[in-house]
Amino acid sequence: MTAEPTPGETPAAPSDFIRDIVAEDLARGRHAGVVTRFPPEPNGYLHIGHAKSICLNFGIAREHGGRCNLRFDDTNPVSEEDEYVRGIITDVRWLIDGWADRCLGFKSAGAVPEARTVDGRTDYRLEGAADGEPFHASDYFDALYFYAEELIRRGHAYVCDLSPKETEEYRGAPDRPGRESPWRNRSADESLDLFRRMRAGEFPDGARSLRARIDMASPNIWLRDPLLYRIRHIAHHHAGDRWCIYPLYDFAHCLSDYIEGITHSICTLEFEVHRPLYDWILESLDLVRPLPHQYEFAKLILSYCVFSKRRLAHIVRERAVAGWDDPRLPTLAGVRRRGIPASALRRLATMVGVTKYDSLTDYALFEHCVRDELNTSAARRLAVLRPLRLVLENIPAGDRIECRALDNPQDESPTSRAIYLTREVFIESDDFAEVPPPKFFRLKPGGEVRLKYGCIVRCDRVEKDADGHISALYGTADLDTRTGGSAADRKVKGTIHWVSAEDAIPMEVRLYDRLFTVPDPAADEDFMKHLNPHSLETVRGFAEPTVGGAAPGQAFQFERLGYFAADPVDSRQDSLVFNRTIGLKDTWAKATKK
Ligand code: ATP
Ligand code: MG
Repeated sequence: MTAEPTPGETPAAPSDFIRDIVAEDLARGRHAGVVTRFPPEPNGYLHIGHAKSICLNFGIAREHGGRCNLRFDDTNPVSEEDEYVRGIITDVRWLIDGWADRCLGFKSAGAVPEARTVDGRTDYRLEGAADGEPFHASDYFDALYFYAEELIRRGHAYVCDLSPKETEEYRGAPDRPGRESPWRNRSADESLDLFRRMRAGEFPDGARSLRARIDMASPNIWLRDPLLYRIRHIAHHHAGDRWCIYPLYDFAHCLSDYIEGITHSICTLEFEVHRPLYDWILESLDLVRPLPHQYEFAKLILSYCVFSKRRLAHIVRERAVAGWDDPRLPTLAGVRRRGIPASALRRLATMVGVTKYDSLTDYALFEHCVRDELNTSAARRLAVLRPLRLVLENIPAGDRIECRALDNPQDESPTSRAIYLTREVFIESDDFAEVPPPKFFRLKPGGEVRLKYGCIVRCDRVEKDADGHISALYGTADLDTRTGGSAADRKVKGTIHWVSAEDAIPMEVRLYDRLFTVPDPAADEDFMKHLNPHSLETVRGFAEPTVGGAAPGQAFQFERLGYFAADPVDSRQDSLVFNRTIGLKDTWAKATKK
């Protein structure tokens, strides 16, 4: 783990093995500039893990004045949807906004790769543009098809008639060589003819496939004549119904990188075993240099979360949460709705660093990043979540006693605002105990406490309803203990938050807890049984009136309670809804200070 960046600014990333490679490639003139890419498959929403990849790819582009292309890796029409495309664009823009937005690589609207002749070879590289639209691997289907035919012409690929099941059986296992397909030595002409007829829709799904001719005895299973194209009679969310054959990831990915002029193709460790195939395809086509190269780093995995899109989709489908943007989910949409600033995710990415070893990152580290960002940026306000009425009998009804409250003591020159002490205030139910436990320094019968920014108050008597529940407290305010008053320096042990019952505005507050009860829910295929049944509690509280104009998503620290943000979907000026982003207690900071 790397040194902790300063809160409030986007931390500069320290170097790592990938940054070292990029710097050396530039120093040696291997590439004129840096072009990276972030290539999500639009089969779900992005999560905190993706944020690490976005921060790395955009971060490197930013450090070298380069570009990072947002590319939809949309070669599998079965699970992909337009809704996810739109969601991913929103999430990426949010995460890089004000930090690396000028590096976002786009292509001119409507542009697709066109065949040109470069050095006597047909070439399909695409010019990048500063604006336009995101890249789609499916925009390259014509180019990819050309390269597939080219591989056949060069004797590097063949059409195979084995069924998907047979192909799988023939592949062998890591400890057992594969068997060659009986169609492996088909002539290039015959394969070309069959491949064209596959494209023309003459054969049903699964009847034939295009495979690379590499090495069925290779210890690397990905080199055992991998599939390049398969037949799928299904329309595509972006490419429409033009195609009934679709390229596989390994074929599409390296060539998409090449077409876009990617210099460093950075992905997670599980693709390390695919790298020989990545290189093999590009080399076998004898493409114009320089070629892109693939580098791998360890995924971010956070405790108490599941990250796989398949599993997140399951949680959403089973209605364990309200949708992909439920604030309990580790999706970027959920995190944003919860009130977590993008800068906290960038900070997390810097703190976990870039390594080659998979490990589980403690959720408390993420929370620590969130608190540090909000501590500098969120204005302080007073609010009460579980109100108990306190009547200060020596303040006449209608009197409004001005008190000054600090907006953010972290600011260099903190500003303040007026709040008003009135005869009736709300305090937190928890801050009163009729029979106090030992060391209880908050309010008790006959005891005193300071109302923050106000004065010391005493509780004189307790009123109960017919059921014996406490309905109100009656007491006295010592107004001389206000700031500037004659007894301002009189001390009591406890200070509590409060709001004026006359001024306060009501609000709904959603209190979130971890979605899972165990640190590693993903380790269990039956992860749903670890859902926390108490992950959401809704209460009705009150806030001081300055909270009333909260913009969607606006964050506050409600003093002594935590950080809260106005829910961007449900909160209205006349009916406020706040999400608790995070509590105040930082277990991570404590643990690391030991
Ligand atoms: P999932 O299994 O969650 O669906 P994925 O790898 O299939 O993830 P993609 O949409 O293919 O998701 O990922 C886009 C990019 O984000 C890839 O380069 C992938 O390596 C990277 N990525 C995915 N998950 C993580 C993670 N947890 N940490 C860092 N990078 C990740
Ligand atoms: Mg994937």
